[in-house]
Amino acid sequence: MTAGRPSDGTRPSGMRCDVAVIGAGTAGLVAERTARKAGAQTLLIDDGFAGTTCATVGCMPSKLLIAAANAAKSVRKAATFGIGALEPAIDGHAVMARLREERDGFVAATLRSIDEIPTGICVRQRARFTGRTTLALGDGTTVSAKAIVIATGARPSVPKVFEPLGDLVLTNESVFELPSLPESIAVVGAGPLGLELAQAFVRLDVDTEVFEQSDHVASLRDPDVAKEVKRVIGEELIMHFGVKLKATHDGDLVRLAWSGASSGEKSFARLLVAAGRSPELHDLNLVATGIGVDDRGIPTVDEATLQCGDAPIFLAGDADGTRPVLHEASFEGFIAGRNAAAYPDVRPIKRAAPISIMFTDPPLAVVGAPRSDEALTGLASYADQGRAKVDACNAGLVRIYADRDCGRLTGATLFGPAMDHIAHLIAWSIERGETAGSLLTMPFYHPTFEEGLKPALRQICKAVNASELDHVDEAAPPGA
Ligand SMILES: Cc1cc2nc3c(=O)[nH]c(=O)nc-3n(C[C@H](O)[C@H](O)[C@H](O)COP(=O)(O)OP(=O)(O)OC[C@H]3O[C@@H](n4cnc5c(N)ncnc54)[C@H](O)[C@@H]3O)c2cc1C
Repeated sequence: MTAGRPSDGTRPSGMRCDVAVIGAGTAGLVAERTARKAGAQTLLIDDGFAGTTCATVGCMPSKLLIAAANAAKSVRKAATFGIGALEPAIDGHAVMARLREERDGFVAATLRSIDEIPTGICVRQRARFTGRTTLALGDGTTVSAKAIVIATGARPSVPKVFEPLGDLVLTNESVFELPSLPESIAVVGAGPLGLELAQAFVRLDVDTEVFEQSDHVASLRDPDVAKEVKRVIGEELIMHFGVKLKATHDGDLVRLAWSGASSGEKSFARLLVAAGRSPELHDLNLVATGIGVDDRGIPTVDEATLQCGDAPIFLAGDADGTRPVLHEASFEGFIAGRNAAAYPDVRPIKRAAPISIMFTDPPLAVVGAPRSDEALTGLASYADQGRAKVDACNAGLVRIYADRDCGRLTGATLFGPAMDHIAHLIAWSIERGETAGSLLTMPFYHPTFEEGLKPALRQICKAVNASELDHVDEAAPPGA
């Protein structure tokens, strides 16, 4: 018996199992494995088994492009330190070739893990519901299960206005296949995906402009941090906020006209749509299940159990439209797989503080979900911070949120050097119930970016009269 991906051979026309998982991305793979380890007979149904969005067209290729861009930035920045370097010579073919080579390595590793799944579990078909616990597959096979996990991920939303542009329009599903870097690119959307890729392109000498219909960067609710993000990223990247777009063909190019807060016209070699990703639920025929859906067509789901109403149906990963990041897809796969296997013994599982990170330079991170009107806050700037000045990356602003009564941390909006790492310290502190005062009694090595949090923590301590403040009133080292 061989294990792994389906052979596309013949199958019985009707299949039965305890848990059927639709979608073999990160969430679905974890859900199937968790259910199988719990003793359930499982089926894992996917129309491609391509190796997860993260590895193929998501986290990994985007970070590979950013890594190339940051290498170019380092060469340009060398002169700041008195080190002579020529303007970097960017070989677009080589950049994209390295990206794909490394990306393919990540995909191969994922496919190897799928190959370890026992024979007969993986089914290469598209699935749709025919009832609460029954599915029809693309080849006419029927599946009957005791419980079903929906882990179908999300797909890029491309506004209809861009459809006539055909191949000139890119999404995350096509941009990493470009043979070389384009001459110029218009990026639609100033969310994490749009800003990460736009900043990478401009650093790789691609003439890049960002167009965003709202006034906000990355849906940020903190107006001060949002302003700083716009200012700092805007120093190297042209961004147009509050604009509506019209796009037409201009020979081989896209002619973009924008109006609103600003107006203009320009032709670009390509247009990258990064205007959000919608849960991939539309052709599942959810109506056959009778489960409730919200006005976006997304099933109403209990965040702690991932159960849809009282049905034996569970929703995990990007398909549920919340927390669309990798570690959450994985954890949700675990919750959904556990509860699907145990159904009807469904148990709530505590969710950790949410983190979202935008891997721009500097990075932006949002941790927790505090109500800013109900929280105490402390603010700290990185414009004059010691370590940031040493490394010539002194820009950014962080705001930490805490409970009014005792200063217990509830969240943070962090924009500055190393905030992708510091976000974890804040999230772990929230999980441990740390207060601003208790954090200040912990060691802060000098000179580090972590020291830059101290002014914000002290402001919170002062507001709650935390006794730790006396204990930690040390001589401030330079720039801390
Ligand atoms: C460009 C980009 C960059 C990102 N960067 C980061 C990052 O840096 N850090 C981070 O944490 N997250 C990042 N993410 C998000 C992260 O990639 C996702 O949260 C995660 O991959 C979602 O996994 P999933 O299992 O929900 O979906 P997927 O991996 O997309 O799996 C869904 C699967 O379901 C299958 N499917 C769909 N419908 C059906 C059907 N009807 N029948 C059968 N099969 C079906 C699909 O073919 C697919 O294989 C990024 C995403 C993108 C797009």
